[in-house]
Amino acid sequence: MQKIAVFPGSFDPFTKGHENVISRALPLFDKICIAIGHNSEKKSFFTLEQRLTMIGRLYLDESKVVLDYYDGLTVDFCKKVGAQYLLRGLRTSADFEFERSIAQINRKMNSEIETIFILAVPEFAPVSSSIIREILRYGGDASQFLPDKMIIGV
Ligand code: ADP
Repeated sequence: MQKIAVFPGSFDPFTKGHENVISRALPLFDKICIAIGHNSEKKSFFTLEQRLTMIGRLYLDESKVVLDYYDGLTVDFCKKVGAQYLLRGLRTSADFEFERSIAQINRKMNSEIETIFILAVPEFAPVSSSIIREILRYGGDASQFLPDKMIIGV
């Protein structure tokens, strides 16, 4: 059976930290589905279409990575795409506390889906989408925190 992982997130925007999690998880799985959690009632900095384009371009040549979006429960989305693994990144102890409850609740909802955590590398641990949004909002240059191949905002 193919090992399929879903990497869910807002990715608003996708950062070097996210990219690092994907590259380290790739040898572990046959397929990784980057799944943009999209709530049409919640305002995002980049539109869903922009995020799909920005991330899609990064993985054009990586056949093991697919890109999708969903609105609803992550475990339901995992089931829909046949994923047995849910991939998340951990930067800080605050991330751990937050992720622990989500993973435990998800396990209660579907015990067939295992959450796998990848620990952030020290150089990217401070990188968060919210800080990048703040830099961009005030016209700063956030390129050092974004994937080299990423074209912002298109
Ligand atoms: P969410 O809105 O679900 O928190 P994010 O887009 O912020 O989604 O993050 C998706 C996942 O990537 C989360 O598990 C988050 O902890 C992880 N992540 C975010 N930034 C980094 C980073 N710099 N290094 C490692 N993991 C990260």
